[in-house]
Amino acid sequence: MAFLNPWGNLLQTCLPFLTVPDWRAHRGLVHAFLGRRGGFSAPPYDSLNASTAAGDKPEDVRKNWCEAKKALGIHSARVTTMRQIHGCDIAAVDEGTGKEAGEADAMVTDRPGCWLAVLTADCVPILLVHPGRRIAAAVHAGWRGSAAGIAVRAVQHLVDRYGIRPGELSAALGPAIGPCCYTVGHEAAEAVAGSWPRLQSSVLHKSPEGLRLDLRGLNRFQLLQAGLDPTRLHDVGHCTACSPGDFFSHRRVAGRTGRQISLVGWMPS
Ligand SMILES: [Zn+2]
Repeated sequence: MAFLNPWGNLLQTCLPFLTVPDWRAHRGLVHAFLGRRGGFSAPPYDSLNASTAAGDKPEDVRKNWCEAKKALGIHSARVTTMRQIHGCDIAAVDEGTGKEAGEADAMVTDRPGCWLAVLTADCVPILLVHPGRRIAAAVHAGWRGSAAGIAVRAVQHLVDRYGIRPGELSAALGPAIGPCCYTVGHEAAEAVAGSWPRLQSSVLHKSPEGLRLDLRGLNRFQLLQAGLDPTRLHDVGHCTACSPGDFFSHRRVAGRTGRQISLVGWMPS
């Protein structure tokens, strides 16, 4: 017998993940925002850590990827990640791309069977899909990338490369640090206010601890400005720093922690 857990997928897998309800109707689309539960890594990477960059054992990380792919029904597939550098470069992924697309903060593909994954621990993971053309994109948006407009650049790249309209895209913004927990310094505040002056009053808020940034909100506004339909923009999951049992948060532990996976792609027909 299978039970539904609060995350909405089957408890049988022991590996919970979040999805967009509206996207379940798209046949062949696989997407998921995974958290930290269900893996093999020991503290402080417990347990579904997807990155060796912060010092976790490669063998545990490999087993975690194996479990994650199994839970998503793509066990034997190759998943492509990128060396995320808080910039705004975009990598196009096809069958010839390896497990890593190089230095970039967004990846795009129109090839079913190419799986894109962004790794985060507070930054905003953004998944974009075009159901008619079976296009997928995965974006990593921290404050630097968001100030540089990585989400807008990714949309423009999809428009230029594939000849689609922004309004045909659907986007999901995954678990990220919320304005409840994200106090930022002058450098971040000035970068955001300087690049997005009309948005600053909506996404930068004064608090006794300092300025707080609504990073996911900033990216949502950018996607709207880029021409996405508000009914096709989805916020998924809670603040990573408020949910210590569910998500990795770099800010909460102020140091070493794991990275969670957000994945998207289309099954080959
Ligand atoms: Zn919070």
